[in-house]
Amino acid sequence: MRASRGARNRACPGGPTRVASCRPVRIAILAITASFALAAPAALSAAQPVVLVQAGHLSPGEPGYLAQTGASGNPFGLESEFNRRVRNDMLTRLRAAGVDARPLAARVEPLGVPGATFVSIHHDSPGGAAMVGHAITGGNENYYRGEGTGDASPTPYPDSARHRVPATTVSAAVERTSAGTAQRIAAGLKSIFTPANGAGGRFRGVIPPNSNRRMNHFYGFYRTTAQSRVIVEVGAAPDDNPFLAKVPLISKTLSTAIINDLKARKLL
Ligand SMILES: [Zn+2]
Repeated sequence: MRASRGARNRACPGGPTRVASCRPVRIAILAITASFALAAPAALSAAQPVVLVQAGHLSPGEPGYLAQTGASGNPFGLESEFNRRVRNDMLTRLRAAGVDARPLAARVEPLGVPGATFVSIHHDSPGGAAMVGHAITGGNENYYRGEGTGDASPTPYPDSARHRVPATTVSAAVERTSAGTAQRIAAGLKSIFTPANGAGGRFRGVIPPNSNRRMNHFYGFYRTTAQSRVIVEVGAAPDDNPFLAKVPLISKTLSTAIINDLKARKLL
């Protein structure tokens, strides 16, 4: 009690006085506090983190990669359809958590779009695996033959289709942030990628930098200025088909990982 009274006395302008004389000051402070409380929701909504969720291979396509129409054979047919379903479910869940979640198709619009996080949703082809890749600093996007066939190359082939410019770059800071997001997504995905949930294939987790050009230098990483940039292969058709059918479980898990990552980065 004494400490409390002392604190109130110190709040009085003009030095220690009787508590009663402090009342107008305390009421004023309460009024100010109340006005801040009223202003808080508007301030929060203005600072909602932007998360860009890309449905891999979904039309319209990205120039230079138009031949990369994705895998097939999942419970919903084309890979783009699975990706679209997961993306849309994630948008709903992320928005409910206070995130400004925005949909992207294969063609990233607008070019250089900013955000807190960019995540590209995919599933792998037969023989593939569930895995997560992230943007790495150094180098640039892949080039392929024509509109996206053949091996990934760091330099254009003579017949490579033109890419949109300017490409964005990946700084060391973006690589670090992306690696953190990738770890959280991989941990979440690992927790549900079980035989009980219908997963029958391999789980590789976060792939090391420079282990897979197609993922580490995915074009999407060079079409956004998002602080974190990741690509997820949720599983592989057909080995993981019963798992891939569980769109709500997958979407919830990926969304939760992204929300936790935003919280860890103090953006949510
Ligand atoms: Zn894909």
